[in-house]
Amino acid sequence: MTFPKNPTLDDALAVVQRDQPVNRTLDLPPLQVKVKHGDVLVLSDQEVTARLASIYRVAGHDPALAQKLTDTQLRLWVLYAANLLAVNQDAVPGFDFKAALTWLVGNIPAEPVMPAPDRREFELQVLGRTGWLRAALKANVQRLPDQVRQQAAALYGPPPSASTAQSGPGASSGQTPPLDKELLRKELLPKLQNLLVNHAVQWRRQQGQERRFQRWEDLGLIARLAQAVAWQTLQPYAAACGDGPFFTGFDYFSKIYDKTATMPTEQDLVKHLMNRAYVAGEDTSTGKSVFTLAGYDSMRSDDRLFLFEMLRQWITGDPSMRKLAVYFFQHIGSNSHADGGGVGLVTEFRTDRPESQSRWETIETIVHEMAHSLIHPNFRAQVEKVRRPMVIKEGFIEVITREVFNWMIDNRSAASTTRLMAGVEGQVVAPVRKTTLGYAESGAYADQIFQFVGRERFLTAFMTGDVELVGLSPS
Ligand SMILES: [Zn+2]
Repeated sequence: MTFPKNPTLDDALAVVQRDQPVNRTLDLPPLQVKVKHGDVLVLSDQEVTARLASIYRVAGHDPALAQKLTDTQLRLWVLYAANLLAVNQDAVPGFDFKAALTWLVGNIPAEPVMPAPDRREFELQVLGRTGWLRAALKANVQRLPDQVRQQAAALYGPPPSASTAQSGPGASSGQTPPLDKELLRKELLPKLQNLLVNHAVQWRRQQGQERRFQRWEDLGLIARLAQAVAWQTLQPYAAACGDGPFFTGFDYFSKIYDKTATMPTEQDLVKHLMNRAYVAGEDTSTGKSVFTLAGYDSMRSDDRLFLFEMLRQWITGDPSMRKLAVYFFQHIGSNSHADGGGVGLVTEFRTDRPESQSRWETIETIVHEMAHSLIHPNFRAQVEKVRRPMVIKEGFIEVITREVFNWMIDNRSAASTTRLMAGVEGQVVAPVRKTTLGYAESGAYADQIFQFVGRERFLTAFMTGDVELVGLSPS
């Protein structure tokens, strides 16, 4: 951009003109939003006052209160926002315009984001927080066809007997056989041990070679970038939940702690092992899964409790298993606790390959753990209502990880690469796009569901908790 040497008033006015809110169509694929900010801009002060009074009236507030709103910015903000809702209300059948106005008048921000011709923050905030985006996204897709619903249901974990599920009293044939506890113990623990051992040996290093760690502040740069990318690239879905994380002060990096430097409690260890036990228990690479053979039903809280207790006894009764579990916790498994326990990141990295390769993997992990924080609580709650909880618990998280991580890779610039590689020594190897989802068949099933229902339904459900869009039953 070049500045004129001796600017004139016309030069200055040209800048003012350029940055004024304008009328335009805002593309928020799959939606289009009509923006008529230019119509507000031409109103006289008197007209603004009159309009404000009428907005307050429609919103069910005392119109006299409008006069107490004296700050010019705030007055305009309300007008722009109300106008935006007014011109787009008909695009969504059944949209409750009055309720949206009521919310608006009751939630005028102290420091409003104002509309700008080349930005969309204002529109995302107003349309997102008032519920317009969510309603528009839902209205934009057809009801999920029954056939797709059934295909998806089979992947979530088929009910034991679908035909008797709604037949009222006596429908007891909907039960799976009782858990064979001995079989579960006998088959699962060796499998789980193998899984941990195989992971741990990858961390072997040459005698005398020091451990190496990623700097915490470098991971902070990545976490902040990941959050910004998620907000930009998952639109309009990321803004579709009015009280979602992005509107309620979500600060991803502040939730992260250094797992490598943390000594886990017994509770931490068992929780972590539960996740791995599901990976081992659902594995079908060598035939029927252990869970199937033992009749483990993740929808039964008794079964879950039994497994938890079995794992607890395993690590308390066998010091070598406890050691392995602690090692796993500190070095291998970054993780995220839905119950507010924060996000643990492993800072040590493997030294048997270029450091940048480890860093790309860390970046993917950072994105994956963030996705755990973005899933709507209603969606997360569904894990107890399906037989393959890992499809939702981890598979769906992997879908979001792919969306955000691949975007970061595909759109990386010299500047963003420098930021992503902060503190990394040696040459920067090229990243590998994420094509296959992790967590074995849980990832594969989640990907199939994504294909069946489509990106639009999937991302809407993920962010808003409208789970019927992905073939689950809301409760
Ligand atoms: Zn995860």
